[in-house]
Amino acid sequence: MTTTATKSKVLTVLSSNVESKSRVSFTVLSSDGVTRYSTVFDKKHGCSCTCPGCGQYHKVCYHLTGLAAHAQALLDEREAQERAAYELLFDPCGLYL
Ligand SMILES: [Zn+2]
Repeated sequence: MTTTATKSKVLTVLSSNVESKSRVSFTVLSSDGVTRYSTVFDKKHGCSCTCPGCGQYHKVCYHLTGLAAHAQALLDEREAQERAAYELLFDPCGLYL
């Protein structure tokens, strides 16, 4: 569990799940300390969050802004892993096929 401080609110991430190199989801804790929201970054289908600000008012909530950099880092890591796995299978000599 990691806590990221944003300008005004503390963002508590309960878990993160990299589903593919273009999609990562987070479970975040609401500021009430009980409610959980699902924040999804999907490069193909867009970003979404189940919190009221995003779900009801269609605003870019602080979960999305606060987690954007973290999400990108996880996706970059996943892409690098997939690239490494590909090279191991198809390009063991480093020819960059
Ligand atoms: Zn949100």
